[in-house]
Amino acid sequence: MIYLDNAATTKPAESVIRRAGECLTEHFGNPSSLHKFGLNAQLCMDEARKIISGSLGAEPDNILFTSGATESSNLALRGSASAYGKRKKKIITSAVEHASVRSTLDTLEQQGFEVIRILPDENGRFQAEDFIRAVDENTFLISMMLVENETGRILPVPEVFRRVRKKYPDVILHCDAVQAYMKIPVKTKDLQADLISLSAHKIHGIKGVGALYIRKGVRLTPLLTGGKQEKSIRPGTESVPLIAGFGEAVRLMQNTIPERLEAVQTKKDYLLNLLSNMPEISINSDTDKNYSSPYILNFSVKGIRSEIMLHYLEQKEIYVSSGSACSKGAKSGVLSAYHVPDNLADCAVRVSFSEETSLQELDTLVQAIAEGQKNLIHKK
Ligand code: PLP
Repeated sequence: MIYLDNAATTKPAESVIRRAGECLTEHFGNPSSLHKFGLNAQLCMDEARKIISGSLGAEPDNILFTSGATESSNLALRGSASAYGKRKKKIITSAVEHASVRSTLDTLEQQGFEVIRILPDENGRFQAEDFIRAVDENTFLISMMLVENETGRILPVPEVFRRVRKKYPDVILHCDAVQAYMKIPVKTKDLQADLISLSAHKIHGIKGVGALYIRKGVRLTPLLTGGKQEKSIRPGTESVPLIAGFGEAVRLMQNTIPERLEAVQTKKDYLLNLLSNMPEISINSDTDKNYSSPYILNFSVKGIRSEIMLHYLEQKEIYVSSGSACSKGAKSGVLSAYHVPDNLADCAVRVSFSEETSLQELDTLVQAIAEGQKNLIHKK
């Protein structure tokens, strides 16, 4: 089995499963309970909160646990629209956001907010200037992802946020850092964000848990009403096993970000080189390291539709993605934002690496694609 769909989800680390198991079997109390079992569960959460906040260079108080990045971004965007969008109505975002941000902003637009979606330039790169130029006195929110999940492009979030904060200090700055966290450095002091969405299952944690970093002083209107958990901003009994597992995943990964980055870059370069020697392949990711995460490579196998190639590879137990896993095969429009023509976008394959991906696995993938090019010709 060759798993090359790590941007969709990663395999939970053994120590993460162990830690979650401890919380299920031993520390199963409700963290809000006042007795010993409650306290122990609370301590498990405190530890995770400390690890995750520390990894960002923030304080435990800044971290709110959620059910995943989708909820984090919904809370960040809807919560700040409700708290800060009474007089000012303008929101700036990129044209390539994940559905969790894109659809949430579509909904806010339907409710009367003005949403400006910034496109990349003719080279498929985002220019900080284009975001900054769009900000004015009526703007209350900017939402930008740090690493885009279909092609791995890096957006100039630190530059945009730093410059906007100087000129318009009241604008709320949200960053979806899901595909960046624990892969490239993500520090609050560099990012200058007010709100950062994170997800555990992209970093060898478990599905169903995420976090929202909230800068001190930022007010969010809660999406839910209920008890006093997570300062009443996110009421409901916390999933202690998942949260403790999230903390363990970060503990495991936080000290090896540069080493893993370099190792994964070697693998991406290796695959890029193999693909460059094949006919009818077109690369959709940016190949410049400064503009692209090494963890994702998107390319098109001309004339063979994504799903056909995906299932052909699946028969050989090679697992890739046809683009964004969340879009379930539906076109997201992200590739067309980068000027990829429809006939190539329909044939896109996303390979997303992990630290465990081996060069032999990439050889096998390329062989299988070459075979596919021969065998699938009639299915064009
Ligand atoms: N943001 C990005 C960039 C993603 O890739 C994903 C996952 O696909 C999400 C948000 C959603 O994360 P979650 O599955 O934790 O809701």
